Amino acid sequence: MGKSGGSTSAARATSGSSDEGREPSGGPAPSKPDPADLPVEGAGEAPAPASGLYLVATPIGNLGDISLRALAVLRGADRIYCEDTRITARLLSRYDIGTPLQTYHDHNAEAVRPAILAALQRGERVALVSDAGTPLISDPGYKLVRAAIAENLPVTAAPGPSAALTALILSGLPPDTFLFAGFLPKPQAARRRALVRWAAFESTLIFYEAPPRLAASLSDMTEILGLRQAAVARELTKLHEELRRGRLDDLAAHYRQAGAPRGEIVIVVGPCEAVSPDMDEVDRRLREALAALGVRDAALKLAAETGLPRGELYRRALALREEKR
Ligand code: SAM
Repeated sequence: MGKSGGSTSAARATSGSSDEGREPSGGPAPSKPDPADLPVEGAGEAPAPASGLYLVATPIGNLGDISLRALAVLRGADRIYCEDTRITARLLSRYDIGTPLQTYHDHNAEAVRPAILAALQRGERVALVSDAGTPLISDPGYKLVRAAIAENLPVTAAPGPSAALTALILSGLPPDTFLFAGFLPKPQAARRRALVRWAAFESTLIFYEAPPRLAASLSDMTEILGLRQAAVARELTKLHEELRRGRLDDLAAHYRQAGAPRGEIVIVVGPCEAVSPDMDEVDRRLREALAALGVRDAALKLAAETGLPRGELYRRALALREEKR
């Protein structure tokens, strides 16, 4: 497949057209025309490929995880925007793709965005990739997508790997409702505030984390989210892929002792487990929490651990504190 057959008067993808999402009777809906539909060299007249912004997912480790469609889109694009040309060049070279590379990252996005929008206005096919995984997911691209939508420019995706979903499905934790929280703030106070916010969600939580902060984050999670089941997913799809599953306090203890692991990490934390409201047991745990925490924090901790209402636990903690005086 080559680029020479593609018409320069590229057709706009008809976002919002009446055909969209309609399934013709007797078969599946046809797929969108895109650079993957570029004609084979010398194959004669072919429909013009659609112009637009293509959000292309790339592997999170194993280069074999790129999709056939992603390769065709990257090969057929007029240009590819990436975070680091050295990293994306390795992927392109593996698949013999010669499409020009330009950078779009956190430090130049404001300056480069107008040029990308102008290219889209001219009818070019522009691909956006990140260093690894799905663009926009803890990676650049959101403001570009928002701007393209605002200018009514076509935006589509060649979906594929993302570390968050890969970790979730390998964690053994409930995948039915989950919340992707991205990276926690680096300063401990801000991290703990964020965790208090996420503790209120009755869902599996997914975090990206850097190895040097893993043990500290797991300790804070133990304190604020409670003794939940969790998994640390490391080096997914790579040679040293590892899934360590267990309770948050055990995982925290392991990494405090073993030190920061190598590689890239996702933490998956299961939802709080509702315990039967054995109030003697609740009182015992509240007393234990009150030995180290104030009434409000002790109630929050037990609420996160048991799923019992915070207000009720607050009143009980107050009573227990009074009892002690
Ligand atoms: N956009 C990417 C995605 O879709 O997964 C995420 C980019 S974010 C800047 C990078 C973080 O993703 C890493 O710090 C790590 O937390 C996680 N990550 C990426 N690749 C990973 C892998 N192979 N194994 C485990 N975690 C990974």
